Amino acid sequence: MLFAVGEDLHAVATARLRRVDQRYTSGRRVLVEALVEAGRPVTTAELVASRRELPQSTTYRNLAVLEQAGVVRRVLGTDELARFEVAEDLTGHHHHLVCVSCGAVEDFEPPRRVEQTLADAVGRLRTRTGFRAEAHRLDLLGTCGSCAE
Ligand SMILES: [Zn+2]
Ligand SMILES: [Zn+2]
Repeated sequence: MLFAVGEDLHAVATARLRRVDQRYTSGRRVLVEALVEAGRPVTTAELVASRRELPQSTTYRNLAVLEQAGVVRRVLGTDELARFEVAEDLTGHHHHLVCVSCGAVEDFEPPRRVEQTLADAVGRLRTRTGFRAEAHRLDLLGTCGSCAE
C-alpha cells in the first residue's frame, strides 16, 4: 500500500473531489476509511453494516460521487452486486480472486516475476501490433476456501 489511512490519502481524496466540484465531507471520509479497513472489495450492504455512521441512502450517493472523482473504483465480480475498493493508484497494484459460487472477491498480489513476464509480453505486443496497454486487469475465477469445503 502506498498510503495507510492517513492524511496523505485524505489529501488526495480532497483534491480529486474538488476537481469535480465536490467536498470531502465527514461521511465520505468515513466511507474511504471503511473501504481501506475492509482490505478487499466490499458491497454497499457490507459497508452500511460495518459502520453506524454510514446510512444506506447517503452511502449509495457518496460511493457514486467518490467513483466519479476517481477516489473509489467499482470491481467486477461474477454476480450482480457492485463491489467497491479505494482506487488502485492510491493503494497499490493488485489482482482479484473471484469466487464463482458465493461471489466473494479477495485481493491478490501475484509474485513480482508474474508482473514482469506480463510487462515483457505487453512490450512485445506493442512492437507487433501497435497496441499501447496502459494497465491490466487479471482476475482468477474459482471457488473460495469456504465454498470448497
Ligand atoms: Zn465463495
Ligand atoms: Zn498486475
